[in-house]
This record gives sequence, C-alpha cells and structure tokens, in this order.
Amino acid sequence: MTDARPTTLPTIAFLGAGSMAGAILNGLLSPAVSVTGGIRVTSRTAQKAASFAGQAGITAYATEERADANREAVRGAKLVVLAVKPHLVPEVLAEVADGLEPGAIVVSVAAGVTVATMEAVVPASVVVVRTMPNTPAQVGRGVTGVSAGSRATAADVALVRELFETVGAVVEVPESQLDALSTISGSGPAYVFLLIEEFVKTAVAKGFTPEQAKLLVEQTFLGASELLAATGEDPAELRRRVTSPKGTTEKAIEVLQGAGLSALFDAATDAALARAKELA
Ligand code: NAP
Repeated sequence: MTDARPTTLPTIAFLGAGSMAGAILNGLLSPAVSVTGGIRVTSRTAQKAASFAGQAGITAYATEERADANREAVRGAKLVVLAVKPHLVPEVLAEVADGLEPGAIVVSVAAGVTVATMEAVVPASVVVVRTMPNTPAQVGRGVTGVSAGSRATAADVALVRELFETVGAVVEVPESQLDALSTISGSGPAYVFLLIEEFVKTAVAKGFTPEQAKLLVEQTFLGASELLAATGEDPAELRRRVTSPKGTTEKAIEVLQGAGLSALFDAATDAALARAKELA
C-alpha cells in the first residue's frame, strides 16, 4: 500500500491465477482493502483453483471443470483482470466478450498485447486499460505502468490505479511507452537479482561462507534501497557520502564506471526493447 487510507474496490474477476494474479491478490487480501461484491478467480486446473477457493471473499473456478468458468467469473464484475499468458489473451477475451457488463474495465497485465487488439474484441461499452506490473508486487513493493485505452475515462484509470496501489506504486504512461517501461521495471527485478548473484560470488571468492556472503550482499541491497526511500535523497549524493576522496570505495567505483556501466545499462535495455518489438 502506498498510503494508509482504506481502499474500497468493486467486484473483481481474475482470469488466470498464476504468479502475477497471485501477487495482486495478496494486496487485495490485506485488511486495508475491501472488495465489495467479492473476488472471482479462474485458472485452467482444478488444483490451482482449489488453492484460492479456501480464502475469504474469493470464489474460484477451473476451466477444466466447467467450460463457462471465465464467463461465470466476469458476470457482474466491474474490473476484469486478464492474467493469462499473452498468447491466450485474444482467446480468453473473445470467450467472455459478450458476457462483460457495460462499463466493465478489462485490465490486461499481459506483455505485448495492444489496447487496439483488445478493444477490437470487446463490445464498445467495455473499457480497456493495459498495465505492466512487476513481481515485487508479491510483497507490496511493486511498480505498475498503467496505460489508458481509448474509451477509458479519468475515473476508470483512477480505479485501476487504486487496484495496483494495493501492491505498490503506479506510473501512468502512454501505451507507446509501455514496452520501454517494461525494460526498466518489468525486467528490472531480474537485473537486480543478477547483480546480487554476482556480488555474492565475489564475496565468496574473498573467503566468506556462502551464508555470510548472502547476508552481506542482500542486506546491503535492502539497506541501501530503504535508505534511499526513507531519505528521498538523490542516489548520487548518497553514493558520494560513502565515497571518501582517495578512499577504497572510490577505487571500486572508478573500475565500475571505467568498464562502461552506463553504456552497459543502455545496451541491455535497448536489447530488451528490440526483443519486445520483435514479439509484438
Ligand atoms: P502463469 O503463472 O503461468 O499463470 C497463468 C495462469 O493462467 C495460470 O493460473 C493458468 O492456470 C491460467 N490459465 C491458463 N489458461 C486459462 C484459461 N483458458 N482460462 C483461465 N485461466 C487460464 O503466468 P504469469 O507469470 O502470472 O503471467 C500472467 C500474465 O502476467 C502474462 O500475460 C504476463 O505477460 C503478465 N506479467 C507477468 C509478469 C511476471 O513477472 N510474471 C510481469 C508482468 C506481467 P493453471 O495454473 O491452472 O494452468
């Protein structure tokens, strides 16, 4: 949650109940959130549906048990979160299209599926909003890019913001920027985990046990992130405070910058963006 105000949301259907839907559901199940009308969740397998069915306020359906599971879930739902794999989005949306309520908001979290593709499938009375969340949503520390579809009103976008603010922060961007946003915050957790992996390896190489190395590195990332968030200061300024002139940190920073770290980040995110365009 980004602030302490209670959030009240209308009936929500999740079509697809994998990692991403599970992360958002964690936020919705917080005591600070009330979903009037309840939450419906669908998955393909009965086993996955059963793992949600026991939770208060959730009705879960499996498509392998009832062919109309997705249609049943969207009946009367104001927010319909499309959380299946991208290649299944057109098929699942077509399946439920004529069962969507007028004024319903289809909220896609699927990478690469455009607003235009989705708006072409649903009735004109249905709104589409495309989003790109990230996995730290699982612990309420996500950041979600939100792009309004052509029929979305400010109130529709505000409702979608509220949904994703239950699991972190929200950045509103035009759809043309959503792939770029994905190369930053969507893929970003993987870059951070890679840095942590490498940093742990170098700590082990310096004689620390794997457990010590993991603690030293993970706590350093966590501590630095929290310091940044708590102080609101410029990261370059916080870095300068750790970097005494002619000291040890300065030597390490010189090596990292000398190896072209800035260019490396540009090249990595450019490669991700080029791949997103190939997949579109
Ligand atoms: P996932 O874990 O594989 O989950 C997909 C879910 O869809 C599963 O619960 C699956 O059910 C269900 N499903 C399959 N066919 C279905 C159908 N016909 N009707 C209803 N449910 C069906 O995938 P994910 O990682 O959560 O990704 C879901 C979406 O989130 C993708 O479009 C992806 O682009 C987007 N996304 C993911 C991330 C990420 O980091 N994971 C980040 C941003 C966006 P079973 O499990 O029972 O087979």
